[in-house]
Amino acid sequence: MKILVLSRNKNLYSTRRIIHSAEKLGHEVRVVDYLRCYMNITSKKPTVIFRGEKLENYDAVISRIGASYTFYGAAVVRQFEMAGLFTINRSEAITRSRDKLRSLQILAREGIGLPVTGFANHTADIDGMIDTVEGIPLVIKLLEGTQGKGVVLAETKKAASSVLSAFRQLKANILVQEFIKEADGKDIRALVIGNEVVGAMERTAPEGDFRANLHLGGDGREVILSDEEKNIAIKAAKTLGLGIAGVDLIRSNRGSLVIEVNSSPGLEGIEAATSKDIASKMINYIESKIN
Ligand code: ADP
Repeated sequence: MKILVLSRNKNLYSTRRIIHSAEKLGHEVRVVDYLRCYMNITSKKPTVIFRGEKLENYDAVISRIGASYTFYGAAVVRQFEMAGLFTINRSEAITRSRDKLRSLQILAREGIGLPVTGFANHTADIDGMIDTVEGIPLVIKLLEGTQGKGVVLAETKKAASSVLSAFRQLKANILVQEFIKEADGKDIRALVIGNEVVGAMERTAPEGDFRANLHLGGDGREVILSDEEKNIAIKAAKTLGLGIAGVDLIRSNRGSLVIEVNSSPGLEGIEAATSKDIASKMINYIESKIN
């Protein structure tokens, strides 16, 4: 197969692992920076052009689209879809999963367990919204935030109200969520490929924090998921239409709840924690789809 990897930097761990695994399995692989791809969308034969060269005759696309470049990255992926290529994650699934609010709405509709979550526009509705998520303490999340950076714990109603009105003054979109105290600063990343959880790790927040993101210094170790947890993760990925997804769960008194679904999950943390070759599983998945 000829596989095209859309990534800003071929030296990133996940991109390097994908190249290595694809070559090891006998495929040809090339990395291009999707921000340097352009396209003529009206052409009868949809093509993507990279620095003057038409990117033709590829079989599959693996996209590693950064959170800040979702709009353009998804447009490039879509153009490849128009040209009939297999894309590991389809463009609409990427766009859907990047919108935290939209994805939670879709997951809730499918009956997937989530922390109680509220969303409001007007500062006058802040108190009402706090009441809908069953009070204090609560978690406030910037919709555009990633890697835990826009996630704040408010321990009093006054603190919640002040933070929410400050964010709203800045015109930031925020959602408010029930704080799952019993998660005890831990969350789970389940890596789903197709119909399978191919690896899972539990992340633990650094001392004094409740956010378990590895980027914030959290620690990851392999975890065994129950069948129910595996099913939740697979269903979440499927509901959003993702072939590959990093599904983040937290364990609550009423079962495991989905907090986020990531369409370009990093491989470094999960491969280190599980000692599994997840990159090769991605390539095997593409092989199974193309054959
Ligand atoms: P980001 O997309 O920025 O990573 P998340 O929604 O995944 O934001 O939250 C970051 C971390 O904060 C999670 O990994 C989890 O450890 C913790 N967390 C998020 N939501 C809750 C919640 N409702 N209750 C308890 N902890 C939470």
